[in-house]
Amino acid sequence: INFPTLQPEQTLGKVIEYFQTKDVEAIGIGMFGPIDVNVSSQTYGYVTSTPKPGWSNTDVLGILRHAFNIPFGWDTDVNAAALGESKWGAAKGLDSCVYITVGTGIGFGIIVENTLVHGLTHPEGGHVFTRRHPEDAYPGYCVFHKDCLEGMASGPAIEKRWGTKCNELQEDHPAWRLESFYLAQAILNAILLLSPKKIILGGGVMNQRQLFPLIHCEVEKHLNQYIKAELLLKRMEDCIVLPGLGDISGLYGALALGLDARNA
Ligand code: ZN
Repeated sequence: INFPTLQPEQTLGKVIEYFQTKDVEAIGIGMFGPIDVNVSSQTYGYVTSTPKPGWSNTDVLGILRHAFNIPFGWDTDVNAAALGESKWGAAKGLDSCVYITVGTGIGFGIIVENTLVHGLTHPEGGHVFTRRHPEDAYPGYCVFHKDCLEGMASGPAIEKRWGTKCNELQEDHPAWRLESFYLAQAILNAILLLSPKKIILGGGVMNQRQLFPLIHCEVEKHLNQYIKAELLLKRMEDCIVLPGLGDISGLYGALALGLDARNA
């Protein structure tokens, strides 16, 4: 079931209404971020500094816990997607993967040694800085950093740069080469920093399937055979892949978070 993301009270009200009619033992939440995932923090379970209107500093977990006295799992939507893919999808059986969603925003979910990566908060790979294409004069869309990855390569950035909706841009439009130029850099950084066994690209923009060969090619070019792993040297198309669970990796991941919470 889908609800539009309206104001927090309305949206969470609908979630509560829905689950009140079900017999639930635990709930797993994969939440759009940034969120507080530090269990010892006073604001654990909050959405923190999101540009989404009305959602900054919302105690999402608190509101839901007030309604249901059951265990809750809580993580970012992208970490949930990475978890779903590692349990049942494209990274099944692997102990590491990076899930990148490219849509209205860009987010990174990361699993290293079978563990979802958290730290001070959680990874924010969507806002890494990439080298600007010399012919790209678009100033960038991110309200915090202007020309970070999300500012240059998210769906809204593409649409504002070209003045056209993503799905109305032809398959051979120069937009996609430029998009692969930026995404490949972030993927390259993820490979160099995290050494993941699989990189999964989801989100609305990645429905442009022509991006995959462009990205493979671009990553290969920049790696320049530096990393001596067969997957990167010979099977790039098996390393950087579509989600195995379509557009519901996050939903599966939330299920896994709920199961973990119940069994904790
Ligand atoms: Zn940014």
